[in-house]
Amino acid sequence: RTVYVNGEYLPETEAKVSIFDRGFLMADGVYEVTSVLDGKLIDFEGHALRLQRSLDELDMRNPISSEDLLEVHRELVRLNGIDEGMIYLQITRGAPGDRDFVFPDPETTDPTIVLFTQNKPGLADNPAAKQGIKVISIEDIRWGRRDIKTVQLLYPSMGKMMAKKAGADDAWMVEDGVVTEGTSNNAYIVKGNRIITRSLSQSILHGITRAAVLRFAREAQMEVEERDFTIAEAQEADEAFVTSASTFVMPVVEIDGVALGGGVPGRVAPRLREIYLDESRKAAI
Ligand code: PLP
Repeated sequence: RTVYVNGEYLPETEAKVSIFDRGFLMADGVYEVTSVLDGKLIDFEGHALRLQRSLDELDMRNPISSEDLLEVHRELVRLNGIDEGMIYLQITRGAPGDRDFVFPDPETTDPTIVLFTQNKPGLADNPAAKQGIKVISIEDIRWGRRDIKTVQLLYPSMGKMMAKKAGADDAWMVEDGVVTEGTSNNAYIVKGNRIITRSLSQSILHGITRAAVLRFAREAQMEVEERDFTIAEAQEADEAFVTSASTFVMPVVEIDGVALGGGVPGRVAPRLREIYLDESRKAAI
C-alpha cells in the first residue's frame, strides 16, 4: 500500500513518524474517515469542513489546503486502485522534540499529516445491512468535547470489545439516562414515519453521514425529531439504526437483548440506506 506522510507518497513500510509526536504521546490529534464508492469520494467537502473545525477548536495549524487535500485523497485512491473502501486522514500537533504538556510553538513545529487507504470491496453491499446489528448499552464516560474528532479512541474501542464479549456488534453509550451515540456512529430510533436522533451539541460527534441522512429523510417526507431518547424508549421503537461514513445507514435489530421488529430490519432504515447510497454516489467527486 502507498501511504501519504508529510507531503510524500511512500510504501507503508517506509513511512515514519517521530516517537515524540504528540499524537503518539498525548492523543493530540484529529482525524477523518471518508468513504470511497466507484473510486470516488463520498462527502469530501463535509469531511474537510469538519476537519478544519476540529483543528480550530484545538488551536492546531492546518498543514494542507482543501484543494491539496482533495488531490492527495484522489492520488491515494488512484495509486492503490481503490474502488470501494475508506481513506483515513490524521493530523497531529507534531513533534516538538521533547515531551511537554504545554503546546509547542506552531511557528517552529510542523503538524504531522498522514493519510492511508483501506480497501473494502463490497462495502456498499455489506451483508450486515440486510441482517441488522445487535447493540448493548454502556455508560458514556468519554470527555466532554465529543464534537471534536480526536484520535482519543480508547473508550470507544473498549466499548466495542464489551459488545463483542456480550455477543453483540456494537455499543450505544448512555449519559444521564439518555443515549449519546454509538462507539463510532450516530444513533437513531424510528416510530412510525418519524426518525428520532439526539440533537447536536458538544456531547456527540456531528456526523457527516447524519447531516446527509437527515436531509434525505426530510426530502422523502419523513419526519425528523432531534431530541434525547432512552434505551427503554429505543427498545419499544419500531426500528433503530446507526449512521457513519464507513457503514452508511446500518439497521439495529436488537438492543440489550430486546429484539426490535421481530429481529429483522424494518422499512425505514433499509430505505434510507438505499437513498443515501444512491444520492451519495451521484454527488461523489
Ligand atoms: N460518532 C462517533 C463517536 C464517531 O466516531 C463517528 C464516526 O467515526 C460518527 C459518530 C459518525 O460520523 P460520520 O458520519 O461523520 O462518519
